[in-house]
Amino acid sequence: MQVANIRLNNYGFDYKKTGNKPARPVSVADNSVPYQNVTSPAVSFLGVSQKYLNAKQYIERVKQIYEFLPPKNTDIYEFSLNNLDGIQEGIKVFNGLNMKEIAFLTRTMTEFGVNRGCHNMCSYCYADAKPPIKETAETINKMSWNDFKSLTDGLNELNDRLGFYVSGPNVSGKRNYISPFHDADGIEVALKDNNGVEHDFIDIADELYRAVGVPVVFDTAGWTPSNKKLQERAERIAAHYSLSENEQILTQFNISFHPFHALHTRQVLLERTGDIERANKFKDLYENRMANAIYTFTPMLESRKMGFIQRVATSNEPVFDGFREADLQKMHKSIMKKVRVLYEKDLEGEQKFSKTSADVEGHLSQIKMLMTGHVASGITLAERGQELFGKANRHALETGDRAFSYNQRMADAKNVKDIFYNGMNGIVDANGDYYLTSWSATFPTEIKLNFENKGKLTAPIRPYLQEDTPITRTVINTVE
Ligand code: SF4
Repeated sequence: MQVANIRLNNYGFDYKKTGNKPARPVSVADNSVPYQNVTSPAVSFLGVSQKYLNAKQYIERVKQIYEFLPPKNTDIYEFSLNNLDGIQEGIKVFNGLNMKEIAFLTRTMTEFGVNRGCHNMCSYCYADAKPPIKETAETINKMSWNDFKSLTDGLNELNDRLGFYVSGPNVSGKRNYISPFHDADGIEVALKDNNGVEHDFIDIADELYRAVGVPVVFDTAGWTPSNKKLQERAERIAAHYSLSENEQILTQFNISFHPFHALHTRQVLLERTGDIERANKFKDLYENRMANAIYTFTPMLESRKMGFIQRVATSNEPVFDGFREADLQKMHKSIMKKVRVLYEKDLEGEQKFSKTSADVEGHLSQIKMLMTGHVASGITLAERGQELFGKANRHALETGDRAFSYNQRMADAKNVKDIFYNGMNGIVDANGDYYLTSWSATFPTEIKLNFENKGKLTAPIRPYLQEDTPITRTVINTVE
Protein backbone atom coordinates (compact mmCIF):
# COMPACT_ATOMS: atom_id res chain seq x y z
CA MET A 1 0.00 0.00 0.00
CA GLN A 2 1.37 3.39 -0.94
CA VAL A 3 -0.78 5.73 1.05
CA ALA A 4 2.28 7.88 1.51
CA ASN A 5 1.47 9.09 -1.99
CA ILE A 6 -1.60 10.80 -0.65
CA ARG A 7 -1.18 14.34 0.56
CA LEU A 8 -2.93 14.82 3.87
CA ASN A 9 -4.21 18.28 3.07
CA ASN A 10 -5.96 17.30 -0.10
CA TYR A 11 -8.11 14.48 0.97
CA GLY A 12 -11.84 14.13 0.62
CA PHE A 13 -13.76 11.09 1.86
CA ASP A 14 -16.81 12.01 3.86
CA TYR A 15 -17.89 8.84 5.55
CA LYS A 16 -19.03 10.17 8.91
CA LYS A 17 -22.48 11.19 7.73
CA THR A 18 -23.19 8.21 5.52
CA GLY A 19 -21.71 5.13 7.12
CA ASN A 20 -19.78 2.93 4.78
CA LYS A 21 -20.79 4.55 1.56
CA PRO A 22 -21.06 8.20 0.63
CA ALA A 23 -24.48 9.28 -0.59
CA ARG A 24 -22.71 11.51 -3.04
CA PRO A 25 -19.14 12.53 -3.70
CA VAL A 26 -17.79 15.21 -1.44
CA SER A 27 -16.42 18.59 -2.45
CA VAL A 28 -19.33 19.62 -4.63
CA ALA A 29 -20.97 22.11 -2.32
CA ASP A 30 -21.43 24.71 -5.05
CA ASN A 31 -22.43 22.38 -7.84
CA SER A 32 -24.01 19.68 -5.78
CA VAL A 33 -25.20 16.79 -7.91
CA PRO A 34 -27.14 13.94 -6.33
CA TYR A 35 -24.88 10.94 -6.46
CA GLN A 36 -26.57 7.72 -7.44
CA ASN A 37 -25.69 4.14 -7.91
CA VAL A 38 -26.18 3.44 -11.56
CA THR A 39 -27.29 0.08 -12.81
CA SER A 40 -27.16 0.14 -16.57
CA PRO A 41 -26.64 -2.27 -19.41
CA ALA A 42 -23.54 -0.19 -20.13
CA VAL A 43 -22.02 -1.36 -16.86
CA SER A 44 -21.67 -5.07 -16.36
CA PHE A 45 -19.70 -6.41 -13.49
CA LEU A 46 -19.70 -10.13 -13.76
CA GLY A 47 -17.67 -11.85 -11.13
CA VAL A 48 -15.15 -10.34 -8.75
CA SER A 49 -11.46 -10.64 -9.55
CA GLN A 50 -8.60 -10.55 -7.08
CA LYS A 51 -7.37 -7.37 -8.72
CA TYR A 52 -10.71 -5.66 -8.08
CA LEU A 53 -10.76 -6.88 -4.46
CA ASN A 54 -7.22 -5.60 -3.90
CA ALA A 55 -8.13 -2.20 -5.28
CA LYS A 56 -11.29 -2.09 -3.16
CA GLN A 57 -9.29 -2.99 -0.06
CA TYR A 58 -6.76 -0.30 -0.87
CA ILE A 59 -9.54 2.32 -1.00
CA GLU A 60 -11.02 1.06 2.27
CA ARG A 61 -7.64 1.28 4.00
CA VAL A 62 -7.12 4.80 2.73
CA LYS A 63 -10.58 5.78 3.92
CA GLN A 64 -9.89 4.47 7.41
CA ILE A 65 -6.60 6.30 7.66
CA TYR A 66 -8.08 9.62 6.65
CA GLU A 67 -11.52 9.23 8.17
CA PHE A 68 -11.09 12.09 10.59
CA LEU A 69 -9.89 14.69 8.16
CA PRO A 70 -12.31 17.32 6.89
CA PRO A 71 -13.70 16.59 3.43
CA LYS A 72 -11.89 18.40 0.68
CA ASN A 73 -11.21 17.80 -2.96
CA THR A 74 -9.93 14.38 -3.86
CA ASP A 75 -7.67 14.07 -6.86
CA ILE A 76 -7.23 10.62 -8.36
CA TYR A 77 -3.52 11.38 -8.84
CA GLU A 78 -3.13 11.57 -5.06
CA PHE A 79 -3.58 7.79 -4.97
CA SER A 80 -1.25 5.03 -5.97
CA LEU A 81 -2.73 4.29 -9.38
CA ASN A 82 -1.03 0.90 -9.40
CA ASN A 83 -2.91 -0.02 -6.23
CA LEU A 84 -6.16 1.37 -7.63
CA ASP A 85 -5.85 -0.60 -10.84
CA GLY A 86 -8.69 -3.12 -11.01
CA ILE A 87 -11.35 -0.85 -9.51
CA GLN A 88 -12.52 -0.17 -13.09
CA GLU A 89 -13.05 -3.84 -13.91
CA GLY A 90 -16.31 -4.63 -15.68
CA ILE A 91 -17.05 -1.04 -16.66
CA LYS A 92 -17.49 -1.62 -20.36
CA VAL A 93 -16.53 1.79 -21.66
CA PHE A 94 -13.13 1.53 -19.93
CA ASN A 95 -12.36 -2.00 -21.17
CA GLY A 96 -8.72 -2.19 -22.20
CA LEU A 97 -7.64 0.85 -20.14
CA ASN A 98 -5.71 0.72 -16.87
CA MET A 99 -6.27 3.20 -14.04
CA LYS A 100 -3.37 5.43 -15.11
CA GLU A 101 -4.99 5.79 -18.50
CA ILE A 102 -8.44 6.37 -17.01
CA ALA A 103 -7.02 8.95 -14.59
CA PHE A 104 -5.38 10.74 -17.50
CA LEU A 105 -8.64 10.77 -19.44
CA THR A 106 -10.79 11.96 -16.55
CA ARG A 107 -8.24 14.54 -15.49
CA THR A 108 -8.09 16.21 -18.91
CA MET A 109 -11.50 15.65 -20.55
CA THR A 110 -13.20 18.94 -21.32
CA GLU A 111 -15.08 18.57 -24.59
CA PHE A 112 -17.36 15.78 -25.77
CA GLY A 113 -17.87 15.45 -29.53
CA VAL A 114 -21.48 14.35 -29.08
CA ASN A 115 -22.35 15.80 -32.49
CA ARG A 116 -19.55 16.50 -34.96
CA GLY A 117 -19.91 19.31 -37.46
CA CYS A 118 -21.39 22.76 -37.72
CA HIS A 119 -23.18 24.69 -40.46
CA ASN A 120 -22.13 28.14 -39.28
CA MET A 121 -18.72 28.01 -40.97
CA CYS A 122 -17.36 30.97 -38.99
CA SER A 123 -14.18 32.19 -40.63
CA TYR A 124 -12.28 32.31 -37.33
CA CYS A 125 -13.50 28.95 -35.97
CA TYR A 126 -10.59 27.55 -33.93
CA ALA A 127 -11.98 24.03 -34.46
CA ASP A 128 -12.22 24.60 -38.22
CA ALA A 129 -15.73 23.18 -38.02
CA LYS A 130 -17.37 22.09 -41.23
CA PRO A 131 -20.87 20.69 -41.85
CA PRO A 132 -21.32 17.11 -40.56
CA ILE A 133 -19.84 14.44 -42.81
CA LYS A 134 -22.22 11.92 -44.40
CA GLU A 135 -22.85 8.87 -42.24
CA THR A 136 -22.17 5.48 -43.87
CA ALA A 137 -21.42 1.98 -42.62
CA GLU A 138 -17.86 3.18 -41.88
CA THR A 139 -18.29 6.86 -40.97
CA ILE A 140 -20.20 8.66 -38.21
CA ASN A 141 -20.88 12.31 -37.42
CA LYS A 142 -22.20 11.81 -33.89
CA MET A 143 -21.98 9.48 -30.91
CA SER A 144 -24.57 6.79 -30.62
CA TRP A 145 -26.84 7.34 -27.62
CA ASN A 146 -25.64 3.96 -26.34
CA ASP A 147 -22.03 5.13 -26.46
CA PHE A 148 -22.82 8.44 -24.82
CA LYS A 149 -24.73 6.66 -22.04
CA SER A 150 -22.02 4.04 -21.66
CA LEU A 151 -19.57 6.88 -20.96
CA THR A 152 -21.74 8.75 -18.44
CA ASP A 153 -22.89 5.50 -16.82
CA GLY A 154 -19.29 4.29 -16.71
CA LEU A 155 -18.18 7.50 -15.01
CA ASN A 156 -21.05 7.27 -12.52
CA GLU A 157 -20.12 3.70 -11.71
CA LEU A 158 -16.45 4.58 -11.24
CA ASN A 159 -17.36 7.59 -9.06
CA ASP A 160 -19.47 5.30 -6.94
CA ARG A 161 -16.72 2.73 -6.51
CA LEU A 162 -14.19 5.41 -5.63
CA GLY A 163 -16.53 7.50 -3.48
CA PHE A 164 -15.67 10.78 -5.18
CA TYR A 165 -15.86 12.37 -8.59
CA VAL A 166 -12.99 11.02 -10.65
CA SER A 167 -13.16 14.15 -12.80
CA GLY A 168 -14.55 17.65 -12.69
CA PRO A 169 -14.63 19.29 -9.28
CA ASN A 170 -11.85 17.13 -7.92
CA VAL A 171 -9.28 18.15 -10.45
CA SER A 172 -7.25 21.14 -9.42
CA GLY A 173 -6.18 23.43 -12.22
CA LYS A 174 -8.66 21.93 -14.65
CA ARG A 175 -11.39 23.94 -16.36
CA ASN A 176 -14.37 24.21 -14.10
CA TYR A 177 -16.85 23.48 -16.87
CA ILE A 178 -17.31 21.01 -19.68
CA SER A 179 -18.70 21.29 -23.15
CA PRO A 180 -20.88 18.74 -25.00
CA PHE A 181 -19.41 19.85 -28.31
CA HIS A 182 -16.06 20.52 -29.94
CA ASP A 183 -16.96 21.63 -33.44
CA ALA A 184 -20.75 21.89 -33.23
CA ASP A 185 -23.30 24.51 -32.25
CA GLY A 186 -25.13 23.87 -28.95
CA ILE A 187 -28.50 24.12 -30.67
CA GLU A 188 -27.55 21.17 -32.92
CA VAL A 189 -26.59 18.91 -30.01
CA ALA A 190 -29.07 16.02 -30.08
CA LEU A 191 -28.95 12.22 -30.19
CA LYS A 192 -31.67 9.66 -30.87
CA ASP A 193 -31.80 6.55 -28.74
CA ASN A 194 -32.64 3.10 -30.06
CA ASN A 195 -36.36 3.78 -29.60
CA GLY A 196 -36.17 6.87 -31.78
CA VAL A 197 -36.54 9.27 -28.82
CA GLU A 198 -34.49 12.40 -29.35
CA HIS A 199 -32.33 13.71 -26.49
CA ASP A 200 -31.27 17.31 -27.04
CA PHE A 201 -28.90 19.59 -25.15
CA ILE A 202 -31.05 19.48 -22.00
CA ASP A 203 -30.80 15.69 -21.55
CA ILE A 204 -27.18 15.57 -22.62
CA ALA A 205 -26.14 18.36 -20.24
CA ASP A 206 -28.04 16.66 -17.39
CA GLU A 207 -26.20 13.40 -18.02
CA LEU A 208 -22.79 15.06 -18.20
CA TYR A 209 -23.38 17.20 -15.14
CA ARG A 210 -24.35 14.15 -13.11
CA ALA A 211 -21.34 12.14 -14.29
CA VAL A 212 -18.66 14.82 -14.18
CA GLY A 213 -19.99 17.13 -11.48
CA VAL A 214 -19.19 20.47 -13.10
CA PRO A 215 -21.56 22.70 -15.07
CA VAL A 216 -21.91 22.60 -18.82
CA VAL A 217 -21.56 25.45 -21.31
CA PHE A 218 -24.22 26.28 -23.91
CA ASP A 219 -23.18 28.28 -26.97
CA THR A 220 -25.10 29.03 -30.12
CA ALA A 221 -24.51 31.23 -33.12
CA GLY A 222 -28.25 31.15 -33.86
CA TRP A 223 -30.23 29.16 -36.42
CA THR A 224 -32.31 29.87 -39.50
CA PRO A 225 -35.53 31.32 -38.02
CA SER A 226 -37.69 29.31 -40.45
CA ASN A 227 -36.21 26.04 -39.14
CA LYS A 228 -39.19 24.99 -37.01
CA LYS A 229 -37.43 22.10 -35.33
CA LEU A 230 -34.52 24.21 -34.10
CA GLN A 231 -36.83 27.10 -33.23
CA GLU A 232 -38.93 24.84 -30.99
CA ARG A 233 -35.81 23.31 -29.49
CA ALA A 234 -34.43 26.77 -28.69
CA GLU A 235 -37.70 27.81 -27.05
CA ARG A 236 -37.67 24.64 -24.94
CA ILE A 237 -34.04 25.23 -23.92
CA ALA A 238 -34.77 28.88 -23.00
CA ALA A 239 -37.81 27.90 -20.92
CA HIS A 240 -35.87 25.10 -19.17
CA TYR A 241 -32.79 27.08 -18.15
CA SER A 242 -34.72 30.16 -17.15
CA LEU A 243 -36.02 28.12 -14.19
CA SER A 244 -33.77 28.68 -11.20
CA GLU A 245 -33.65 24.96 -10.34
CA ASN A 246 -32.02 24.19 -13.70
CA GLU A 247 -29.62 27.10 -13.79
CA GLN A 248 -26.92 25.31 -11.80
CA ILE A 249 -26.35 22.86 -14.67
CA LEU A 250 -25.02 25.69 -16.82
CA THR A 251 -21.79 27.55 -16.39
CA GLN A 252 -22.75 30.02 -19.09
CA PHE A 253 -25.53 30.41 -21.65
CA ASN A 254 -23.92 32.14 -24.62
CA ILE A 255 -25.08 33.66 -27.84
CA SER A 256 -22.04 33.81 -30.07
CA PHE A 257 -22.20 37.06 -31.93
CA HIS A 258 -19.36 38.39 -34.09
CA PRO A 259 -18.37 39.49 -37.60
CA PHE A 260 -16.79 36.12 -38.47
CA HIS A 261 -20.01 34.17 -39.00
CA ALA A 262 -20.17 32.80 -42.58
CA LEU A 263 -23.08 35.11 -43.44
CA HIS A 264 -21.25 38.27 -42.37
CA THR A 265 -18.03 36.99 -43.93
CA ARG A 266 -19.89 36.58 -47.24
CA GLN A 267 -21.28 40.09 -46.85
CA VAL A 268 -17.79 41.55 -46.43
CA LEU A 269 -16.35 39.60 -49.37
CA LEU A 270 -19.22 40.70 -51.65
CA GLU A 271 -18.83 44.32 -50.55
CA ARG A 272 -15.17 44.11 -51.53
CA THR A 273 -16.18 43.11 -55.05
CA GLY A 274 -18.79 45.90 -55.20
CA ASP A 275 -21.76 43.51 -55.26
CA ILE A 276 -23.71 45.53 -52.71
CA GLU A 277 -27.10 44.07 -53.57
CA ARG A 278 -26.05 40.53 -52.72
CA ALA A 279 -23.99 41.74 -49.77
CA ASN A 280 -27.13 43.31 -48.30
CA LYS A 281 -28.99 40.02 -48.64
CA PHE A 282 -26.36 38.29 -46.48
CA LYS A 283 -26.40 41.21 -44.05
CA ASP A 284 -30.15 40.80 -43.64
CA LEU A 285 -29.89 37.04 -43.24
CA TYR A 286 -27.33 37.37 -40.44
CA GLU A 287 -29.09 40.18 -38.63
CA ASN A 288 -32.49 38.46 -38.80
CA ARG A 289 -30.94 35.27 -37.51
CA MET A 290 -29.29 36.98 -34.55
CA ALA A 291 -32.32 39.15 -33.76
CA ASN A 292 -34.47 36.01 -33.69
CA ALA A 293 -31.98 34.15 -31.43
CA ILE A 294 -31.80 37.06 -28.98
CA TYR A 295 -35.59 37.45 -28.97
CA THR A 296 -36.13 33.69 -28.49
CA PHE A 297 -33.81 33.67 -25.49
CA THR A 298 -35.67 36.53 -23.77
CA PRO A 299 -36.54 34.21 -20.83
CA MET A 300 -32.78 33.96 -20.18
CA LEU A 301 -32.21 37.72 -19.96
CA GLU A 302 -32.80 37.71 -16.22
CA SER A 303 -30.30 34.89 -15.74
CA ARG A 304 -26.83 35.71 -14.52
CA LYS A 305 -25.65 32.88 -16.79
CA MET A 306 -26.67 34.69 -19.98
CA GLY A 307 -23.88 36.26 -22.04
CA PHE A 308 -22.78 37.22 -25.53
CA ILE A 309 -19.54 35.87 -26.96
CA GLN A 310 -18.17 38.69 -29.06
CA ARG A 311 -14.83 38.57 -30.80
CA VAL A 312 -13.14 40.91 -33.27
CA ALA A 313 -9.86 41.26 -35.11
CA THR A 314 -7.49 43.81 -33.62
CA SER A 315 -4.94 43.78 -36.40
CA ASN A 316 -4.97 46.87 -38.68
CA GLU A 317 -4.04 44.82 -41.73
CA PRO A 318 -6.50 45.49 -44.60
CA VAL A 319 -7.44 41.81 -44.79
CA PHE A 320 -9.38 42.33 -41.53
CA ASP A 321 -11.44 45.27 -42.82
CA GLY A 322 -15.03 44.39 -41.93
CA PHE A 323 -14.06 42.24 -38.90
CA ARG A 324 -13.13 44.86 -36.29
CA GLU A 325 -14.84 46.38 -33.29
CA ALA A 326 -16.41 49.21 -35.34
CA ASP A 327 -18.05 46.58 -37.56
CA LEU A 328 -19.42 44.81 -34.50
CA GLN A 329 -20.88 48.10 -33.25
CA LYS A 330 -22.65 48.59 -36.59
CA MET A 331 -24.11 45.11 -36.24
CA HIS A 332 -25.34 45.91 -32.74
CA LYS A 333 -27.32 48.88 -34.01
CA SER A 334 -28.97 47.05 -36.90
CA ILE A 335 -29.76 43.98 -34.81
CA MET A 336 -31.23 46.05 -31.99
CA LYS A 337 -33.63 47.65 -34.47
CA LYS A 338 -34.77 44.21 -35.59
CA VAL A 339 -35.14 42.95 -32.04
CA ARG A 340 -37.28 46.00 -31.26
CA VAL A 341 -39.56 45.12 -34.20
CA LEU A 342 -39.97 41.57 -32.84
CA TYR A 343 -40.86 42.84 -29.34
CA GLU A 344 -43.33 45.39 -30.71
CA LYS A 345 -45.00 42.72 -32.81
CA ASP A 346 -45.24 40.52 -29.72
CA LEU A 347 -46.71 43.39 -27.68
CA GLU A 348 -49.38 43.99 -30.28
CA GLY A 349 -50.17 40.30 -30.62
CA GLU A 350 -49.37 37.29 -28.44
CA GLN A 351 -47.71 39.22 -25.58
CA LYS A 352 -45.44 36.27 -24.92
CA PHE A 353 -42.63 38.40 -23.51
CA SER A 354 -44.06 41.92 -23.08
CA LYS A 355 -47.36 43.17 -21.71
CA THR A 356 -46.44 46.86 -21.77
CA SER A 357 -44.09 49.20 -23.63
CA ALA A 358 -42.06 49.38 -20.43
CA ASP A 359 -41.47 45.62 -20.70
CA VAL A 360 -40.18 46.10 -24.25
CA GLU A 361 -37.82 48.86 -23.15
CA GLY A 362 -36.69 46.75 -20.19
CA HIS A 363 -35.75 43.81 -22.42
CA LEU A 364 -33.96 46.09 -24.87
CA SER A 365 -31.91 47.73 -22.17
CA GLN A 366 -30.89 44.29 -20.77
CA ILE A 367 -29.75 43.27 -24.26
CA LYS A 368 -27.80 46.51 -24.66
CA MET A 369 -26.05 45.82 -21.39
CA LEU A 370 -25.01 42.37 -22.61
CA MET A 371 -23.76 43.89 -25.86
CA THR A 372 -21.52 46.28 -24.00
CA GLY A 373 -19.88 43.32 -22.25
CA HIS A 374 -16.47 41.89 -22.96
CA VAL A 375 -15.29 41.80 -26.58
CA ALA A 376 -12.52 39.23 -27.01
CA SER A 377 -9.61 39.92 -29.29
CA GLY A 378 -7.58 36.70 -29.16
CA ILE A 379 -8.09 34.88 -32.44
CA THR A 380 -6.99 31.42 -33.45
CA LEU A 381 -6.89 31.30 -37.22
CA ALA A 382 -7.25 27.62 -37.97
CA GLU A 383 -7.18 26.05 -41.41
CA ARG A 384 -10.22 27.87 -42.88
CA GLY A 385 -9.21 31.19 -41.32
CA GLN A 386 -5.75 30.97 -42.84
CA GLU A 387 -7.22 30.19 -46.24
CA LEU A 388 -9.41 33.26 -46.08
CA PHE A 389 -7.16 35.79 -44.36
CA GLY A 390 -3.80 34.39 -45.47
CA LYS A 391 -0.86 33.02 -43.52
CA ALA A 392 1.19 36.20 -43.24
CA ASN A 393 -1.09 38.36 -41.06
CA ARG A 394 -0.55 38.93 -37.35
CA HIS A 395 -3.34 36.66 -36.08
CA ALA A 396 -2.22 33.79 -38.36
CA LEU A 397 1.40 34.16 -37.36
CA GLU A 398 0.50 34.20 -33.66
CA THR A 399 -1.58 31.05 -34.11
CA GLY A 400 1.28 29.38 -35.97
CA ASP A 401 3.76 30.30 -33.23
CA ARG A 402 1.49 28.90 -30.54
CA ALA A 403 0.89 25.68 -32.50
CA PHE A 404 4.63 25.24 -33.06
CA SER A 405 5.42 25.86 -29.42
CA TYR A 406 2.82 23.32 -28.21
CA ASN A 407 4.05 20.79 -30.75
CA GLN A 408 7.56 21.10 -29.33
CA ARG A 409 6.31 20.79 -25.78
CA MET A 410 4.17 17.72 -26.50
CA ALA A 411 7.03 16.12 -28.46
CA ASP A 412 9.28 16.68 -25.43
CA ALA A 413 6.73 15.46 -22.86
CA LYS A 414 8.15 12.56 -20.85
CA ASN A 415 5.33 12.07 -18.35
CA VAL A 416 1.80 13.17 -17.50
CA LYS A 417 3.03 16.11 -15.45
CA ASP A 418 4.61 17.60 -18.58
CA ILE A 419 1.19 17.39 -20.22
CA PHE A 420 -0.76 18.82 -17.29
CA TYR A 421 1.77 21.61 -16.88
CA ASN A 422 0.86 22.77 -20.37
CA GLY A 423 -2.84 22.93 -19.52
CA MET A 424 -3.99 20.62 -22.29
CA ASN A 425 -7.72 19.93 -22.71
CA GLY A 426 -9.17 16.58 -23.75
CA ILE A 427 -11.72 15.91 -26.46
CA VAL A 428 -13.71 12.67 -26.61
CA ASP A 429 -14.50 12.01 -30.27
CA ALA A 430 -17.77 10.40 -31.37
CA ASN A 431 -15.99 7.08 -31.96
CA GLY A 432 -14.28 7.08 -28.54
CA ASP A 433 -10.87 8.24 -29.76
CA TYR A 434 -9.30 10.71 -27.37
CA TYR A 435 -7.42 13.89 -28.30
CA LEU A 436 -5.73 16.73 -26.48
CA THR A 437 -5.86 20.29 -27.67
CA SER A 438 -4.24 23.60 -26.74
CA TRP A 439 -6.86 25.34 -28.96
CA SER A 440 -4.03 26.15 -31.37
CA ALA A 441 -2.87 22.58 -32.04
CA THR A 442 -4.44 19.16 -31.48
CA PHE A 443 -2.74 15.89 -30.57
CA PRO A 444 -4.05 12.33 -30.97
CA THR A 445 -3.61 10.08 -27.94
CA GLU A 446 -3.38 6.31 -27.77
CA ILE A 447 -6.44 6.25 -25.50
CA LYS A 448 -9.60 4.82 -27.04
CA LEU A 449 -12.87 4.31 -25.23
CA ASN A 450 -14.62 1.02 -25.77
CA PHE A 451 -17.55 2.43 -27.78
CA GLU A 452 -19.81 0.32 -29.99
CA ASN A 453 -18.68 2.70 -32.77
CA LYS A 454 -14.99 2.18 -31.98
CA GLY A 455 -12.96 2.21 -35.19
CA LYS A 456 -15.54 4.14 -37.25
CA LEU A 457 -14.21 7.15 -39.13
CA THR A 458 -15.06 10.71 -38.08
CA ALA A 459 -14.10 14.13 -39.45
CA PRO A 460 -10.56 15.07 -38.38
CA ILE A 461 -10.35 16.85 -35.03
CA ARG A 462 -8.82 20.27 -35.49
CA PRO A 463 -7.14 22.76 -35.18
CA TYR A 464 -3.86 21.57 -36.64
CA LEU A 465 -3.96 17.87 -35.87
CA GLN A 466 -0.36 16.86 -35.12
CA GLU A 467 -0.53 13.26 -36.26
CA ASP A 468 3.24 12.91 -35.97
CA THR A 469 3.16 13.88 -32.29
CA PRO A 470 0.82 11.37 -30.62
CA ILE A 471 0.52 11.31 -26.85
CA THR A 472 1.62 7.74 -26.22
CA ARG A 473 0.51 5.26 -23.62
CA THR A 474 4.11 5.21 -22.40
CA VAL A 475 3.94 8.92 -21.51
CA ILE A 476 0.43 8.53 -20.04
CA ASN A 477 1.63 5.62 -17.89
CA THR A 478 4.63 7.57 -16.61
CA VAL A 479 3.07 9.15 -13.57
CA GLU A 480 5.86 9.62 -11.08
S1 SF4 B 1 -17.11 28.94 -34.09
FE1 SF4 B 1 -18.73 27.63 -33.28
S2 SF4 B 1 -20.54 28.22 -34.42
FE2 SF4 B 1 -18.78 28.96 -35.59
S3 SF4 B 1 -18.27 27.31 -37.05
FE3 SF4 B 1 -17.05 26.99 -35.21
S4 SF4 B 1 -18.24 25.55 -34.01
FE4 SF4 B 1 -19.63 26.46 -35.49
